[in-house]
Amino acid sequence: SRYVPDNCRGDNYQERIVMAVTDTLTGLHNRRYLVSHLENLVQRAASGGKPVSVLMIDIGHFKLVNDNYGHQVGDEVLVESAKRIRMNIRGVDLAVRYGGEEMVVVMPDTEMSVAHIVAERLTQHFADVPFKISMDPGEITVTVSMGVAVTLEGSDSSEDLLRRADEALYSAKRDGRNRVVAAAGQ
Ligand code: GH3
Ligand code: MG
Ligand code: MG
Repeated sequence: SRYVPDNCRGDNYQERIVMAVTDTLTGLHNRRYLVSHLENLVQRAASGGKPVSVLMIDIGHFKLVNDNYGHQVGDEVLVESAKRIRMNIRGVDLAVRYGGEEMVVVMPDTEMSVAHIVAERLTQHFADVPFKISMDPGEITVTVSMGVAVTLEGSDSSEDLLRRADEALYSAKRDGRNRVVAAAGQ
């Protein structure tokens, strides 16, 4: 039968719950978990609560990493990227693998100015510290682009918040990558 690693078997109830909300490669939360938690946070913020900021993060030219060094090294870069993200956020923040090489960070009780500083620091860290890889030449530089958005008072939705962050990310990539862009008008 198919080989399944020990930590991915989910042979008890609690393990199965963890797996259902976790990305197995990176250990980050998965998109399903994000969807089920973000709307509540956004609704609270929109109706007078503390602001919630979101970072949408995209690894630059990730396909080239796979093409040049193989899928295994691509996986190594994803795992290390997740680690760097986790190490630069607070315990209350939520780090999510949103798609293949895209990650989202949700920061409760965080205004745009603070989220922007966190995003800049993290983007700089990626650019400054090369990634160790298991193939020649032993290390490579990997950069990220980020879009930042914050909840709007009055009415907002998790879908709109993520859309604004995604549009800002698109601008960051269009403007040359390895940079942070705030959502328009925020
Ligand atoms: P851009 O700079 O414009 O963002 O381009 P990109 O190459 O980073 O992004 P693109 O969307 O063109 O390619 C993403 C690639 O990520 C394609 C897909 O095969 C790869 N990928 C998705 N999930 C995984 C994974 O779990 N492991 C590995 N190694 N590769 C993955
Ligand atoms: Mg992408
Ligand atoms: Mg990319």
